[in-house]
Amino acid sequence: MIKYDLHSHTTFSDGRLTVPQLLERATEKGVDVLAITDHDTTAAIQPAKAYIEQNNLALELIPGVEISTRWESFEIHIVGLAVDPQAEQLSELLASQQAKREARAKEIGVRLAKRGYEGVYEQAKELAGDAEITRAHFAAALVERGVAKNIQGVFKKFLARNKTGYVPSSWCDMATAINAIKAAGGISVVAHPARYQMSNKWLRKLLQEFAEIGGQGMEVAQPQQAPSERQFLGQLSREFGLLASQGSDFHYPMPWLELGKNLYLPKDCQGVWQFWEENEEC
Ligand code: AMP
Ligand code: MN
Ligand code: MN
Ligand code: MN
Repeated sequence: MIKYDLHSHTTFSDGRLTVPQLLERATEKGVDVLAITDHDTTAAIQPAKAYIEQNNLALELIPGVEISTRWESFEIHIVGLAVDPQAEQLSELLASQQAKREARAKEIGVRLAKRGYEGVYEQAKELAGDAEITRAHFAAALVERGVAKNIQGVFKKFLARNKTGYVPSSWCDMATAINAIKAAGGISVVAHPARYQMSNKWLRKLLQEFAEIGGQGMEVAQPQQAPSERQFLGQLSREFGLLASQGSDFHYPMPWLELGKNLYLPKDCQGVWQFWEENEEC
């Protein structure tokens, strides 16, 4: 059985492992096919390809990206898989998303300063280095200050939707992301559909609209989910004619979350890899 892990992050966004560390770890964990899907950037792809080649790793890399979009009042993440990272429309979209990340980060800094936490923007930038800045960097900065015990605690207090430090961003809409991914030769996949805190009615509406505007896949399997959730998502993928993906959304090692761990699709789901495996044959 081929082990696919089609959602992971590096230090080019909010992952904690560098490209070489991530690739070595994936290989150790027996992953055969790995997608790197950093937030709004494909900067990891070229160095990853080079590292695999230089070190002769037995790992197939799927070039990917995770794009933040706005749909209704939700922030929906769309994973693009098997994209050409050089494609013009995608590069332009990602540049615009990156500018939005930067503007939002400054605004988060302003809001936190009003709450008495000065200089968090500068601290988060320092932590991010060359990476695309994310709320996870702010969370890490506030953990360093002892504001909460861990990242999750900071999100709960300050960064989750409707909390003081939450700044709604003007991310692109779903169609823009889908079209750019398509123009880059890739397939669009709804990331972690069970994590949007929406009712099943809204989730169905989301998947229906996503499929109507050209989206082709959705994530079904994640390492830490309940078996019933996996079954349900599998059923939705069939209902809406979407290919099924699986990925750890790995950011750093955690006891319950690891590269390639506990990833398999329910019966009768069509794996998203059909998309590129069919293309390879012709
Ligand atoms: P952003 O894309 O900048 O809005 O940042 C979102 C990132 O923060 C996600 O990709 C996760 O890595 C992380 N994140 C979001 N919510 C939580 C949470 N409740 N606990 C821990 N990390 C979170
Ligand atoms: Mn993240
Ligand atoms: Mn996500
Ligand atoms: Mn992710």
